[in-house]
Amino acid sequence: MNGPLLPVYPRASGLSFRSGKGVILTDGNGRDFLDFAAGIAVNILGYAHPHMLERMREAIERPWHLSNLYVIPGQTRLAERLLERAPFAETVFFTNSGAEALECALKTVRRHHFAQGNTQRSELITFEGAFHGRTLATTAAGGRAKYLEGIGEPLSGFRSLPFGDVEAVAAAVGEKTAGVLLEPVQGEGGVRAWPAESLARLRALCDAHGLLLVFDEVQCGMGRTGDFFGYEFSGIHPDIVALAKGLGGGFPVGACIASGRASSGMDFGIHGSTFGGNPLAMSAGDAVLDVVLEDGFLEHVKETSAYFRQGLEKQRASHPGIIEELRGRGLMVGLRCAVAKEKLIAALLEQRLLCVGADDNVVRLLPPLVVERGHIDTALEAIDNACSKLEGGS
Ligand SMILES: *Cc1c(COP(=O)(O)O)cnc(C)c1O
Repeated sequence: MNGPLLPVYPRASGLSFRSGKGVILTDGNGRDFLDFAAGIAVNILGYAHPHMLERMREAIERPWHLSNLYVIPGQTRLAERLLERAPFAETVFFTNSGAEALECALKTVRRHHFAQGNTQRSELITFEGAFHGRTLATTAAGGRAKYLEGIGEPLSGFRSLPFGDVEAVAAAVGEKTAGVLLEPVQGEGGVRAWPAESLARLRALCDAHGLLLVFDEVQCGMGRTGDFFGYEFSGIHPDIVALAKGLGGGFPVGACIASGRASSGMDFGIHGSTFGGNPLAMSAGDAVLDVVLEDGFLEHVKETSAYFRQGLEKQRASHPGIIEELRGRGLMVGLRCAVAKEKLIAALLEQRLLCVGADDNVVRLLPPLVVERGHIDTALEAIDNACSKLEGGS
């Protein structure tokens, strides 16, 4: 299935989609699939969203790319809109991907301590099950042995602790500690959500020791949990937050958002990007924000996800031999499986419901945020059918 392509992805299903509208993808044979994968949490407005199409048609007539050597008004506008949602922050750097947003965050942390004369403070505390991207630095930050094998000495300065273990963090903080990096809801690691009180304790620890708290919201941000940022429910804020995936609604855009204090060491010339923040990407981000920040949109996510979770709780109760546990927050849903997750994924695909796997034997359901109750009903029926078939051994 890979042909001339580097075989780093399994494309064994051979599935290929030709068109999409709303939350439906259509394959080459005209078969419709309900898309609860959304390009792995990217297509938050689904496909061919009318407002997105209109804004991108306008944008495509103007220069797509202008160097960051010039003023790009779309960057200022998108940055201001993001900062309005992140009152703790003062600066934004735009990137083309999540990993690049994290790279900027990692440099920002180190430069902050460097600027304070604390060059020894270069270590970030991270957590098992983390995923921060596939560059060399973000692979090291994620710490997964499988992804680090054979690519040489990993970048130093990451210390991985058990997920959720605030006591371990308190014990690990030392002279070299620069900050704490976590996903408020882990994605790839198995849709594990941090409780509010743990985040509050980490915030207090960071404040007490002069550490920076960095949230990787590449997957859980942009309304996915029902709040604009996935951390909002906790009542605390980070010093730096990384966004990407949903931000461009399918166009590659990432952002590293930081407080003035955190970004104090990011002087002229210390970072950059050729493509990051180009006008076309800024239009995509701006169009997505038009919709996500509209009155009632996040309430829709909250209501729809509550309805979905209620239905999934029933499915778990009726199919305990297939679904063991319901995880996540909002429309970031994880089903921990009692059978191999690949079996459930295949059975759901047979029901024409697209989803994604995660670690810890979890199936992820990440529908576009524009999903309606009717789609949820269809998905629940597909899940019920898939589970029944698996129970029947067929
Ligand atoms: C997907 C993801 C990344 C990496 O984003 P890319 O755009 O693939 O570089 C980083 N962190 C989290 C939490 C993610 O889900």
